[in-house]
Amino acid sequence: MACAVWSPGSVPTVEAAVVVQLPAELGEGTLWDARSQQLLWVDIMRARLYRFDPNSGVNEEHDLSAYSKFVSSVVPLREADDPTGDFVALTLGEGFAVYNFRERSLRILPGNPSLGENERFNDGKVSPTGSYWAGTIARDATGQPIGKGGLYRRNLDGSVDKVVEEVAISNGLSWHSDCRTFYHTDTPNGTVDAWDYDVVTGAITNRRPCIEHFDFQTTGFPDGHAQDIEGMLWVARFNGGRVGRYDPKTGALLAEVTFPETAGKQITSVAFGGADLGDMYISTAHEGVTAETAAEQGLPEAGCLFRVTREALTVVGGAAGKPAHSMCLPQSGFLDLPVASV
Ligand code: CA
Repeated sequence: MACAVWSPGSVPTVEAAVVVQLPAELGEGTLWDARSQQLLWVDIMRARLYRFDPNSGVNEEHDLSAYSKFVSSVVPLREADDPTGDFVALTLGEGFAVYNFRERSLRILPGNPSLGENERFNDGKVSPTGSYWAGTIARDATGQPIGKGGLYRRNLDGSVDKVVEEVAISNGLSWHSDCRTFYHTDTPNGTVDAWDYDVVTGAITNRRPCIEHFDFQTTGFPDGHAQDIEGMLWVARFNGGRVGRYDPKTGALLAEVTFPETAGKQITSVAFGGADLGDMYISTAHEGVTAETAAEQGLPEAGCLFRVTREALTVVGGAAGKPAHSMCLPQSGFLDLPVASV
């Protein structure tokens, strides 16, 4: 399938505004937790887990740096397994774990794969059946991605399978609501790819690009994405300073979210949140520069959490978000695991 060529600025735009003034180094992993009605997100490089309550405006910080150098993604547990919202699953640099917000305690889940020396987990989401999918980045000694990462699936029985080999920077995953298509991004390829998804076996086949023509220097590369109820993908463009709404069936760009210049261009992940998932939350980063330098460079908001309200989204033809899937992890299993010690 030939994908539409698109150019930034050719579609209606709406500007995002800061909602949490906290310059994360690599803000990522935005996801709405329907149980707590709060937005989960992380700072990968500082191993911080955050939980933002739009009602109170409080952004709770949980420092996980005693357990790992990185925390790369976070997902809600299924309401049947933990109705309180106290527990979430996440990926540390080394693999899958469970965190208790109330007790500030962490449990490492068994079965994590052995990774390479300079390999760490990255973006992750839950499939329609409740399994947790997350990919990795493997780098050489100089920090360059070497294409030796993978995409992993933590199955409901606790086993972990590598479902895609030779990934450079694994990002941006979601499933279409018909449960037949899976979307994934290997960022340096400059594409969002679609796969046929088998909801019974969890297998993915028939990979093909569905959104193309991203360029690092001009449009920015595809990073995380979120899906709306019309099946359109809102893709964060790292180094592009925008989020684009795309039709994955044609590859066409339909609308864009812009950011103040003070936010810089490192846009990293997108999630819908709030009542009925009508608002959009977006994480950003200032990788490669210190917070102080970012401020000196006129980028004091690089790394902050941004929001576009539902009223503003409507103006550019946006729709509400598709609910995120929750991880199936019965309490009978994970509560028996030992709490990780520091
Ligand atoms: Ca990412």
